Amino acid sequence: MNVRNFNDRSCERYRPYFDAYLDHELPVETQQDIQQHVVSCQDCARILESRGQIKQLVRNVVTREEAPIELCSGTELSSPAPASVSFRVFPRA
Ligand SMILES: [Zn+2]
Repeated sequence: MNVRNFNDRSCERYRPYFDAYLDHELPVETQQDIQQHVVSCQDCARILESRGQIKQLVRNVVTREEAPIELCSGTELSSPAPASVSFRVFPRA
């Protein structure tokens, strides 16, 4: 019981940092803390995984919406942006 309560509380502590964790914005120690917690906590592992998938989706949407704007300057609107162009707009994505 006690162990479970403690786990729940540490979940609360880690979860607000998941976004920053996925963006690699945390100090290395904190990244490792979260990594260790996630390894031993399936709930948080699942949350982290779905957060990562959402982030990827959002990134794809943003890439899609931004790409035509970039293309507008030089390219005709009628030609759809191929995936490779999207990657060139956000090379670090
Ligand atoms: Zn947890």
